Amino acid sequence: MPDFRGTQGFWRAYPVIAKLGLSFEGMANPAWFEENPHLAWAFYGHRLNLYRKTTPHQGFNQLLEIGAAKPGGYFVFTSNVDGQFQKAGFAPERVVECHGSIHHFQCATSCTDEIWDAEGEAVNVEESTFRALEPLPRCRNCSALARPNILMFGDWSWLGHRTEAQHERFTKWLNQLAKSLAKLAVVELGAGSAVPTVRHTSERVLQGISGTLIRVNPREDDVPSGQIGLPFGAAEGIRRICDCAESLARDAKPRG
Ligand SMILES: [Zn+2]
Repeated sequence: MPDFRGTQGFWRAYPVIAKLGLSFEGMANPAWFEENPHLAWAFYGHRLNLYRKTTPHQGFNQLLEIGAAKPGGYFVFTSNVDGQFQKAGFAPERVVECHGSIHHFQCATSCTDEIWDAEGEAVNVEESTFRALEPLPRCRNCSALARPNILMFGDWSWLGHRTEAQHERFTKWLNQLAKSLAKLAVVELGAGSAVPTVRHTSERVLQGISGTLIRVNPREDDVPSGQIGLPFGAAEGIRRICDCAESLARDAKPRG
């Protein structure tokens, strides 16, 4: 999947947006749905189609296996909008998507607070011109343009109640853990400091519950003292955590 880190990387993935001189921050703005709906929907439609086609890598399965085996279970907190955790089999009621989801739509004018599942909505993007073709997704209520339920930059029309309900479930789970003697392992994957929501969340939850932060990040693996930093990509980091857990389990077994 395209890595949007750095303007050059973003422009390589989207040459037409490069010609317009727009950065990711400039493009991920709800104003485009009004100013140039075909371009806005080319950008989000292209990503929607790509994420629908993508199979989550092995690391997702390994992570789910670890989490599901824990007595207190797991929770996912992600700034990704691509829905890959759910696709990999993580329970939807155990996921917080703090920036929303590309697989859910809302009215661009937020005429009602309805957020609907985008399954069955098709967006066709003409690759050569990077324009979404008609018909563009429409609001089910007022037939104005629809937009993804993603929190964009300078976004005042994003409907946050789906994400708020996820936050509430997450808080409830954390409160239950805090009351128990559970130790929490926070596995943080590829969370940069540019938009630090995820990094802050990792550190914040460990202020209320005892446990360890394992920060997996190829460039920014610095951690508060006593925590663990692994300078790897996500899939590699998870693989190493699994290897480590396996060898600990082996060492714990009595030898004859
Ligand atoms: Zn509407």
